Formats: sequence, structure tokens, C-alpha cells
Amino acid sequence: MADPRQLAALRGNLACRSRLGLTQIEGSRGEMDQLMAEIMPASPKPSLGSLSDVRGWLGECTRCPLSGQRNKIVFGAGPEDARIMFIGEGPGQREDRQGLPFVGPAGQLLDAMLAAVGMQRSQVYITNIVKCRPPGNRDPQPGEVAACRPFLEAQVKLIAPTAICALGRPASQALLATDAPIGRLRGSWAEALGVPVLPTYHPAYLLRNPEAKAMAYNDLKALVRGPAN
Ligand code: SF4
Repeated sequence: MADPRQLAALRGNLACRSRLGLTQIEGSRGEMDQLMAEIMPASPKPSLGSLSDVRGWLGECTRCPLSGQRNKIVFGAGPEDARIMFIGEGPGQREDRQGLPFVGPAGQLLDAMLAAVGMQRSQVYITNIVKCRPPGNRDPQPGEVAACRPFLEAQVKLIAPTAICALGRPASQALLATDAPIGRLRGSWAEALGVPVLPTYHPAYLLRNPEAKAMAYNDLKALVRGPAN
């Protein structure tokens, strides 16, 4: 256990770095995970009976440096009894302003993709592996993902979906604890947090690479059919 005064100094250092726009910290993934575990406030996990309990537990979170530049936490949206969850990598600029996931052009494409396979956004739960916007839309760093992970795990446990669709490389790699490229992961069922997971391309990637839309459409059809089919 680290000295509380050292941890307070470390928190102050990280907050200062964040205000200065310094978002890179050197270290191995294991070192970063250990660091984030140590600087997270040692508040015990409360009783979590609903998503609003999880949101309350999250509070105005400052557990990782992403809190320093965010406008709004993007917790997630959708029904608590959704059968399918979509998990992306993190909020973008519009999401950060509005506090809602997938509200920009990528969100509109996701809506269109859902409609193409007979689903509506109101039927699914959408969230991200980190709830605050990474500056410049960079990939979330391992320590940030680790700091936010308990809240994602609590969301998945409460919603208990029959399937998760991981949107894009960072979300797929974080959920499946792999470094494999998205081109190899997409379209194949795996498992994370006790739930079948189907990775596919992120809608933002599809906007830049429309030739990949047909593969994503096939992935969503497989998502609707479920892992057993
Ligand atoms: S990304 Fe998650 S852990 Fe980091 S400050 Fe935001 S809510 Fe907290």
C-alpha cells in the first residue's frame, strides 16, 4: 500500500499534467494498471441494484486523467433490460458536449445499421469502455481503461445482455484482452465478462472506409441471429 501523502502528490501531479494537456505517461500496461488501482479512491463498492446506482457511484469521477479535459461524462444510454449492448471506445467531441453516446455522424450511421437489421436504438444499450473523451479522440490508454472498467463491468452485470457488439479496435481489444487487429477479430464470436461478444468495425471507421460497410452489415446480421446460429 502506497503512502497516502505520496498518492495525494501523485494525484496533484496527474491533475497538473492533465491541465497542461500532457496525456501521455510512460510505463508498461501492468505498471499503468497498478498505478491507476493505487490512485483510485479506496471507497468501497456500494450496493448496485440499478444503472442509476452505478451512475451515482461514478459521480463526478476524477479517477483517471481523462477527467481533466472533459465537459460531460458519457455514461451510456438505453433500456436497463436491453438484450444487446454496443460498446465503443470513448466519447467524441459531440458526445462530450451532450453527455450522450454516439450522437454525431457515426451515431447516425449506427442508427442506419441497426435499422438495416430490424433494430432500433431504443432497444439497445450503448456505452463506451471509457466514459470521458480522450483528447483529440486518441485511443484510451490502458490505465484509463482499467480505471473505468469497474463501471463498465457493473453496467454489463446489471443489464445482463445476451450479446455484446464491440465497436472498433480499441473496444474489442480491451474487452477481449488481446492485441489482435480488428480485421481478424471482427465477425467472430468471443466472450468477455461472461457474455458472448461480437466485434465489428466502428461506425466512424466505416464513414472513412465505406467499402467495409458490407462486412459490418454481415456482422450485425450475425449479432441478431446470436452466437448459437
Ligand atoms: S474515463 Fe472513467 S475513470 Fe476516467 S475520469 Fe472518466 S469516468 Fe472516471
